[in-house]
Amino acid sequence: MYILGQNYLKSAVMIQLDTNLIKKYNRQGPRYTSYPTAIEFAPIEHISAINYLKEELKTPKELSLYVHLPFCQSLCWYCGCTTVISKNPDVSGPYVDSLIREINATAAMVHPQSTVYQLHFGGGTPTFLREKELIELTLAIKQAFNFSPDAEISIEIDPRTVSKSQIFALAEVGFNRASLGIQDTNIDVQKAIHRVQTFDQNVHAVEWLREAGFTSINIDLIYGLPKQTPTLFKNTLEVVEFLDPDRIALYSYAHIPWIKPAQKLIKDEDLPEPASKIKMMQMALEYLQEKGWDYIGMDHFAKPEDELAIASKNGTLHRNFQGYATKSGLDMLAFGMSGISQVGNVYLQRNRIVQSWSKGVQDLGTTFEKGYFLTHDDAIRKEVIMKIMCSGDVNFEKLNNRFQIDSKQYFATELNELKPFIKDELVLLSEDGFKVTEKGRLFVRNISMLFDLYLRQKEQELVYSKTI
Ligand code: SF4
Repeated sequence: MYILGQNYLKSAVMIQLDTNLIKKYNRQGPRYTSYPTAIEFAPIEHISAINYLKEELKTPKELSLYVHLPFCQSLCWYCGCTTVISKNPDVSGPYVDSLIREINATAAMVHPQSTVYQLHFGGGTPTFLREKELIELTLAIKQAFNFSPDAEISIEIDPRTVSKSQIFALAEVGFNRASLGIQDTNIDVQKAIHRVQTFDQNVHAVEWLREAGFTSINIDLIYGLPKQTPTLFKNTLEVVEFLDPDRIALYSYAHIPWIKPAQKLIKDEDLPEPASKIKMMQMALEYLQEKGWDYIGMDHFAKPEDELAIASKNGTLHRNFQGYATKSGLDMLAFGMSGISQVGNVYLQRNRIVQSWSKGVQDLGTTFEKGYFLTHDDAIRKEVIMKIMCSGDVNFEKLNNRFQIDSKQYFATELNELKPFIKDELVLLSEDGFKVTEKGRLFVRNISMLFDLYLRQKEQELVYSKTI
């Protein structure tokens, strides 16, 4: 019998950190913004990708759109994003032209009754674009697609370079959510990551966003950065409390310079010891919950009245390439270099090199470099992993009915491997299924990894960041 009578996300119980369990389960693992993860994608023929898209998109769809804007004025040394570093403001003009061409070529395949519920500009630094480019691009998207009146339209903002007039122009064309990269407010840490950002820049960005009518503001933080200590990171948390965002993403810094070359510029000796990093996580977890943010799931916090917290309570939390999202069941169309679309049972990724991507758009309109067609087994495992990550509740009967399997038999090995998690009271197993406990919520990546066939087969441990 379950001890928990409800989905774990329905209550805002304070999540406590058990340092022994953190040490025990602190291993490399994917963040599961997709399953299979992007590492499994393989080169795909243009024609088969386009034929598949045309077929899928000819019926009305509920859509989420993502636009990748890769330009940044300078490189942050911890960065793992797909970026183009340039001081030249003219580089974004031709990119926007190509994007509009790609958007129109893709939109021509979409059924006219399809509706967009989410649009996100990510990067890079989307606000690298000139104000008129941001407006031109947004209006082109709105003209190409049919938007729901209450669509969530969000953008990533760099407080170091954004202007008040850019923020007001974004609000004018419908943006209502923003995410700000802050990471850490201490000058020594900022110098060690090559990202110096003042208190005033942070305050101005938040004030302008509120004044312009943005309804949800997220702040990104990272713990485990060079020169960081628990005491210094506490100061960062105090600044964040003062800024009072609706959401907070608190990421663990993963030092993997063999995958993210920019990190080679960070000195190993400047990195905090594992025990110090765990202390930072413990302190941040307690601090943010005490100050009024609910723990939503992996790395994410939100005010109880924020839509992300409400979606988690309603069981409509969803995971996509941008992390947690408020609406489930949307197909995603991504534009710009490296963007990953997910339509039906297929992932399609655009070229990761800006020149190749741009040439592909000029020649063919809309192109993809890599893709992945989910097998029946992938679709089953994806469902289980997303349930673990979003609601923590996996029901065998629902799986059996949906996929025509006997779940207990199908996952006999995985359920057997759940035993240590059950012993550590991170998971409760019953005849009906299994649930992640409150204590287990910090370990959803570890639990999901048991159901990842590719991880099991390839032991790609070094590719991923640590789960904590
Ligand atoms: S962290 Fe953000 S601003 Fe810094 S280089 Fe990466 S994408 Fe650009």
